[in-house]
Amino acid sequence: MMKMKRKILALTFDDGPSPDTTADVLDILAEYRIPATFFLVGQNITPDTEPLLRKAVSLGCELGNHSFSHPDMTALSPYEMSVEIDETSKRIERITGKPTRFFRPPYIAVNEDMIRQIPLTFIGGYGINDYDQNLSVEARVSGITDLAADGRILVMHDSEGNSRTAEALRRIIPLLLV
Ligand SMILES: [Zn+2]
Repeated sequence: MMKMKRKILALTFDDGPSPDTTADVLDILAEYRIPATFFLVGQNITPDTEPLLRKAVSLGCELGNHSFSHPDMTALSPYEMSVEIDETSKRIERITGKPTRFFRPPYIAVNEDMIRQIPLTFIGGYGINDYDQNLSVEARVSGITDLAADGRILVMHDSEGNSRTAEALRRIIPLLLV
């Protein structure tokens, strides 16, 4: 959560953890002492990326579930949904030591089976196509800051190779703190 005078908004990052982009995002968050929420893809939680997640927790960040393999979960059976969720929560809880609370559906695609089957709080948010690696840093900065508003949840992506979002974040945070 970021406090802008009396205003608050939440920064969230989807599709990580990734060795490079997540590391860069964490360095920036640490510099400003701003916690964020990371919605993690379970298959990316490996011995290589776990130290980054431990750092995130030590900075006060929340770790959420974003499925195991990032499918469109509306196409899955209830059993397959549970496998996606449970393995990811297990990997997260090995790091946090606490029950996982939040879930962001891949592609924000939701159906009734998912709501019945997934015992987590579903979290949406406002974002731009910052997962498109061709999108310029400038467009990311203006796109995200245009979406900023009191009480909003902003969505960005810390997937591997998406260094432009980390670059943009370095410029976005000072603009939001004004
Ligand atoms: Zn995603």
